[in-house]
Amino acid sequence: MISLEEARAYVMDACGRRPKISTKVSEALGLVTAEDVIARESLPPFANTAMDGFAVRSEDLQDTHTRLRVVETIAAGHNPQKTLHPGEASRIMTGAPVPVGADAIVMVEKTSVDGDWVTVEGSVTPGNHIRPVGDDVAANDLVFSNGSVLSAGHLGVLCSLGINEIATYPRPRVGVISTGDELVDDGRDLEPGQIRDSNRRTLLSLARGDGFDPVDLGLIPDIESEIEAALLAGIESCDAIITSGGVSMGDYDYVKAVLTRIADMRWMQIAIKPAKPLAFGTVGETPIFGLPGNPVSSMVSYELFARPGLRSMMGFPHPVRTSLKGVAAGALTRKADGKIHYARVTAEFADGDLIVTPMSGQGSHMLASMARANALAVLPDGEGCNEGETVQVLLLD
Ligand code: AMP
Ligand code: MG
Repeated sequence: MISLEEARAYVMDACGRRPKISTKVSEALGLVTAEDVIARESLPPFANTAMDGFAVRSEDLQDTHTRLRVVETIAAGHNPQKTLHPGEASRIMTGAPVPVGADAIVMVEKTSVDGDWVTVEGSVTPGNHIRPVGDDVAANDLVFSNGSVLSAGHLGVLCSLGINEIATYPRPRVGVISTGDELVDDGRDLEPGQIRDSNRRTLLSLARGDGFDPVDLGLIPDIESEIEAALLAGIESCDAIITSGGVSMGDYDYVKAVLTRIADMRWMQIAIKPAKPLAFGTVGETPIFGLPGNPVSSMVSYELFARPGLRSMMGFPHPVRTSLKGVAAGALTRKADGKIHYARVTAEFADGDLIVTPMSGQGSHMLASMARANALAVLPDGEGCNEGETVQVLLLD
């Protein structure tokens, strides 16, 4: 057995970032920038008011009440037509440009209007409620550095700056294939010994949820030539391949036979439970993840190896999920066996604490309990932990 760290380092090493591409901002949510983003414009592009009220000359307001003549009304999106002279004010709406001559805004609540005149209470300091040009981002500033993960807010900033396309790393196209004579996927009544293919849907969905571009390569029977043809076609059209099943010690594990022939594979036994076996290798630049067939094992193996590898290809600066500290709401017991155990749990925040509740049904074939869990408790080799103790969890999304 090798350690989780060794296996993961081996995988990540072979999952290099793909060449950068130009992406429309409308398509870029969740992608990683492949270049520094430099502002071509300032934000805000012009000095404007943060309040509805009156643009004034602060030096005019020397008394408790000052009466000023209103020379115009400036709406957002309109350019002021009048320069303010002593004794004058312009009515102004939030976001509208500040007129020449004005150096402060008085909010409407501190004024009373009488025809073409406004009376202002008190004084203001210069710059009051004015948002200067470039206050948020100045032209030529570095807005986002290379390697930023683009959130909704980032995309809003890019739109604010008139940037419609940016350099990103592409979503890897991830081909997912199921193999096994026992599997059916067309809803027919099961013949003796048959089960339904679940891994393909699960893995395609995990890949979609993580922002990759999943490609369904189908369900292939345990026939060596068909497995080879499907894998070669997948390698041709995808950036990475995920298989499930057929990589252990069984007599009909043809995936293993084919991958040994066409790919540069390493067959690993990793000190974790579930998901001990992992086949990983490459054909040229294309990584191949041979995940175990048991449904829960395939999901855990995806989480620990495929997801970080694929996120590396996509340029994520932190491809591996960080674990959080929770409090065990019940004992999470285990036996010492030299492995890290990943136990299905529910984890919920209550009053700021992450409460980790154990679940029954920890067999690696028990997919329903995996579906109901939202986290994996990480139990280092040993006896597990007692109720009330701190436990590390991977919060799955
Ligand atoms: P294998 O690794 O092929 O020996 O499969 C291990 C276990 O996982 C067996 O019980 C298989 O029936 C099951 N299995 C393999 N592939 C799938 C799949 N795509 N969906 C559901 N179960 C599967
Ligand atoms: Mg099989």
